[in-house]
Amino acid sequence: SGPQNVALIVGVTGIVGNSLAEILPISDTPGGPWKVYGVARRPRPSWNADHPVEYIQCDVSDAKQTQAKLSPLTDVTHIFWVTWADRPTEAECCDINGTMFQNVLDAVLPNSPNLTHICIQTGHKHYIGPFEAFGKVKPHETPFVEDVQRLDAPNFYYTLEDVALDACKKKPGLTWSVHRPAVIFGFSPHSMMNILDSLCVYAAICKHEKVPLKFPGKKAAWNCYFVASDADLIAEQQIWCSVDPNGKNEAFNCSNGDLFKWKHFWKILADKFEVEYEEFNENQDYVSLVERMKDKGPVWDEIVKQNNLTPTKLEQVSTFWFVDLMFGWEFLEQYPVPPSIQSHLQEYILNDSATSKKLKRNNSLEISINEARQPILED
Ligand code: NAD
Repeated sequence: SGPQNVALIVGVTGIVGNSLAEILPISDTPGGPWKVYGVARRPRPSWNADHPVEYIQCDVSDAKQTQAKLSPLTDVTHIFWVTWADRPTEAECCDINGTMFQNVLDAVLPNSPNLTHICIQTGHKHYIGPFEAFGKVKPHETPFVEDVQRLDAPNFYYTLEDVALDACKKKPGLTWSVHRPAVIFGFSPHSMMNILDSLCVYAAICKHEKVPLKFPGKKAAWNCYFVASDADLIAEQQIWCSVDPNGKNEAFNCSNGDLFKWKHFWKILADKFEVEYEEFNENQDYVSLVERMKDKGPVWDEIVKQNNLTPTKLEQVSTFWFVDLMFGWEFLEQYPVPPSIQSHLQEYILNDSATSKKLKRNNSLEISINEARQPILED
């Protein structure tokens, strides 16, 4: 047998990074026993501390810092790329994400001679284009297959693939795999897009306020079929590609396979949080979740206090814009934004650049949402 497998998870506190940190150290994980390094930008959070992972706090967008923190590692055999950075335009996203990835490769490649494989996580935007291209670039038809041509629009997913291919060309024996999930279901309060976490926070707030769990979306979202990808499943696929010769130099979609409807999920969410379930009401006015939750910061503080939760702020544990994106199809179609939320958007633009960017971005979409909302299949 060769040297011990040593993983470098970049984005270890993220939605899939956390699953990798949980699964890789288990003794019967394929390729194990693994030694695991985990990189994230912020200090190690308490909920990550149980994983037997050597935690490295490092901002990989900073080349110097990345050299300082990662070049001392000499035993990395596998890189798991499960991070990303957002910027106002996709061209800038290409730039920053390519740079981050290259920074890590520049630190690891010369110093870890046994590096054999790189997993890159991207997603379905490979097939539908980045947010800014929605309605402008014709997406691929569903069901998505991995070997379709790239769309004619900048996409940081393509940049990541190119950087990986380039590294593999330069180092004989080094292989890559690309993993393309749909919307991810997983655990991480540090994720930039966590739909379940956001919905759980919403349900907790409804329970606290003793109000029914209203569906913060459109009829299309309530009724449609949807597909999701469990974070653990994606992690397992990445690990399989890391150790199996059949998983090399190829892209893989990754989804749970079974379809579900949000209206059925809604009942489960209501039960879990012991909050009153409410049927979707066609006559109800659409109010985005961002709008619904805009004044709930103090309510969340109260929930944290009453239940002795790890102290967090509402904006840290929720990504409501992402729920709006998934649930608000007709809402998006009816942009420009209804006046009631315009002032709030302004606030967001001032206070929360990540969220506002998304909303602003959607604002400029001439959305052909029926195309953009793949992989959703209408009933
Ligand atoms: P995430 O947002 O859950 O986690 C990101 C991780 O990277 C965190 O650990 C964060 O601390 C870390 N990080 C961020 N910036 C960093 C920096 N500069 N230096 C070091 N660490 C940094 O990530 P994710 O959602 O798994 O995203 C990975 C890829 O998956 C992205 O391309 C994303 O578009 C794609 N994707 C996500 C979803 C989803 O539902 N979340 C769905 C499909 C595809």
